[in-house]
Amino acid sequence: MDEIEKHVEDIYRALGGKVEKEVIARELRNWIVNFKIPITEAKRSIVSKLGGDPTKLAGNEKKIKDLNVGEGRVDIKAKVISINSREYEIDGMKRKMYYGILGDETGTIPFTAWRLELELRKGDCVEIKNAYTKEWQGAPQLVIGTNTRVSLLPPDSVSVKLSISPRKIVELYPRMGLVEVVGKIMEVVEKEVIVDGVPRKVYEGIIGDDTGEIPFSAWDVSVKKDAVLKISGAYVRTFRGIPQLVFDPRATIEPVDIELEVKEIPVTLESLEGKGGYNVLVEGVIIDVKKGSGLIYRCPECGRVLTSTNCPEHGKVNPVPDMRIKAILDDGTGAAMCIFNREQTEKILGIKVEDAIRIVQDNLGNPAIIREMIEERLIAVPMKVRGNAISKEKYGLTLLVRDFDFLDIEDIAEKAGNMLEELGW
Ligand SMILES: [Zn+2]
Repeated sequence: MDEIEKHVEDIYRALGGKVEKEVIARELRNWIVNFKIPITEAKRSIVSKLGGDPTKLAGNEKKIKDLNVGEGRVDIKAKVISINSREYEIDGMKRKMYYGILGDETGTIPFTAWRLELELRKGDCVEIKNAYTKEWQGAPQLVIGTNTRVSLLPPDSVSVKLSISPRKIVELYPRMGLVEVVGKIMEVVEKEVIVDGVPRKVYEGIIGDDTGEIPFSAWDVSVKKDAVLKISGAYVRTFRGIPQLVFDPRATIEPVDIELEVKEIPVTLESLEGKGGYNVLVEGVIIDVKKGSGLIYRCPECGRVLTSTNCPEHGKVNPVPDMRIKAILDDGTGAAMCIFNREQTEKILGIKVEDAIRIVQDNLGNPAIIREMIEERLIAVPMKVRGNAISKEKYGLTLLVRDFDFLDIEDIAEKAGNMLEELGW
């Protein structure tokens, strides 16, 4: 069967076999060749013209994995993996919204429905016609709107490839699809926000497992500190240069009765490129100490680093002394700009800001002396650094140091020894 024949067959079926195929073929050729109407438009118009229902056309049917953000007139056959509803008021009117996850043999997609003609349950197989997609948390979501038709299919007529994969927190990266995570709630705060005019509860915090930690936001799901939860059907998105786990009642969330020791395992800088990470642990050496490290002066109003007593925003000010280090850490797989704050810089140099001021004065007011001291102390010294790795396209990877440690040379020798042993040397 060639393409045109397939379309003729489709129209014939949509019209319930009431119109001759030759008539349909003639119409179709006319619309496409003479009127230059796109095929899907032409088919819909012909079915309408000949007294049929265009939503009965199979032509728009898609598989879930092929759905993108911003598609109109989507037809799919799917199984209901989860479904929930929420009631809310708009302008004093009570309304009910349904939401959940649909699946087919190619994948899964979240959906929302503003109106459902039939009561859907988990496990139902459905044919959905004339839905559309929009963006939700960086991924497509199917919307069942007022012009969408939903009908039940025979049970188990759609098979589902469940693409929810169990992951360790260290493995999470944005837009990887639905994931399952077992983690402990380290901290959490409750907030109320307005989304599309509807007040919603969001719980934000940190969840961790034995590989690392990640910030989360849980919509309309109450989570408690110290709870160990198995969350199946969460998403990962990028928020302020760091991955964030997002979930709502579409996910299956259940308490798990296990002791979970939350800790970070060292990661490579390469694995953080383009995604960042919360409170990650990296081992490497400092290969460069950037200008602007050492003793600096800041505007007392805005904190901006100043080279004179003039702030571009606040005019003449009395600058406040501070210390910091901007240094490039290399771990053999990649590099990151590490920012050490005043306290950490004082610890590295073994001097206080007041001492640094005196040292600069003793050196004819040349502040570069402090940077030289930092270089002497840090360059090529193996160290362990922990903090938030922010990934921004323009700036690459920036590591805001939370804590750090120098790796003992003995430690490294022992590690090398162990490695050789493991290799059978
Ligand atoms: Zn200022």
